[in-house]
Amino acid sequence: MTINIITIGDELLIGQVIDTNSAWIGRAANLKGFNLGQIFTVSDEYEAIQDTLSVAIKGAYIVILTGGLGPTKDDISKKAIAEYLGDHLVHSERSWTHIQSMFKKFGRKPLEMHKEQAKMPAKAELLENKMGTAMGMWMEHEHTIIISLPGVPYEMKHIMAEEVFPRLQVRFPKLRAIEHRTLHTIGIGEGQLAELLENFETNLPDGLKLAYLPSLGKVRLRLSKSQTCSDSVDIDNWKEKMRSEVDRYVFGEGETSISESLGSLLKKNNLQLATAESCTGGFISHMITAVSGSSAYFQGTIVSYSNEVKMSMLDVNEQTLIDHGAVSEAVVREMLAGLLKKMPAELGIAISGVAGPTGGTKDKPVGTVWIAVGNKEKVKVCLLNISKSRQKNIEYSATRALGLLWQFVKANY
Ligand code: ATP
Ligand code: MG
Repeated sequence: MTINIITIGDELLIGQVIDTNSAWIGRAANLKGFNLGQIFTVSDEYEAIQDTLSVAIKGAYIVILTGGLGPTKDDISKKAIAEYLGDHLVHSERSWTHIQSMFKKFGRKPLEMHKEQAKMPAKAELLENKMGTAMGMWMEHEHTIIISLPGVPYEMKHIMAEEVFPRLQVRFPKLRAIEHRTLHTIGIGEGQLAELLENFETNLPDGLKLAYLPSLGKVRLRLSKSQTCSDSVDIDNWKEKMRSEVDRYVFGEGETSISESLGSLLKKNNLQLATAESCTGGFISHMITAVSGSSAYFQGTIVSYSNEVKMSMLDVNEQTLIDHGAVSEAVVREMLAGLLKKMPAELGIAISGVAGPTGGTKDKPVGTVWIAVGNKEKVKVCLLNISKSRQKNIEYSATRALGLLWQFVKANY
């Protein structure tokens, strides 16, 4: 069952707004077992919308459009679609009541232009939008279902989940969802993983597929069972087999993050953590505290960006800074030791590096980052040589630092 997607908006074409709607729809629909045919992005123009619709309709049972349902002059999707389908706009009392009630909720009065917005294609079935004024539309044209949704991402997602998918499931009851299982790894590259999993991959049965999805410092391993795969194939069994090959690098399964997995591990072992951050400027702390409940195991951070703060707050020796420079193994070791003295935490992360784009030298180019993790007895250090943009260097080294600590706790507690 193929779906084509059309996202409408000049802002998408000129890169002012990134089209996240099609990615979200594609992913959600694929998980439910739909096939994705094509994604089109077009400007807010009659002809462009109608021409694209005529192409999109040919290749799919379902066409989903987003954008251009608002009350402003550039919101012409409804009219363009209705006209293309040989329909016309009529005042919809249901849509008007909806718009009025939304305005009432915000304590405002609708404008004249909102009366225009209440006009809907005569033949469209309206889809409830609890998040905004623009209702969605479900239309049928020959053998194709055409669904038009507002462009605002959270409104679109809400209508898809509450209105569109339930209707599609009634219409296509035999559709079998594609099953995915994901393992999250850290501290190993995609190539090395592929080597470890070579045999496993060769032996995969028809219909089971393994994908390597790398992102800053981590690689996700996604096992997918297609709709044509035999029922006798147990995807969980295969996932366990895969896990046993690479287990020491796997920090989690399904929907998770390194901060979340590290958090659960710290909680389980009843451990407290603190961080001393130079080049990441608090980003590691931000990643840790993005997890709800992190106060159970996180004490805080010392953002020791300057040498003065490294000395005064973390007891780093001036001579060490002179002899080795702030970005060095000796300094991160002292930062960690100082941190564990000052903070009521048995575990710490210390990090110092050149985030760039300026500040690099021949010996320590941009992307040189030293990390120390550990406790008062044992410390593990790591040198990274990253060559990305400033933001990516920060994100990458923060992720690796969390990964190193995760490995440390796994190995020592
Ligand atoms: P509104 O009632 O807000 O006018 P609308 O249906 O007319 O809704 P648009 O005007 O096209 O939608 O877009 C509304 C907002 O949603 C804009 O900020 C736009 O940048 C954003 N948006 C639109 N399409 C997308 C998309 N494909 N991906 C991400 N954001 C989008
Ligand atoms: Mg709009």
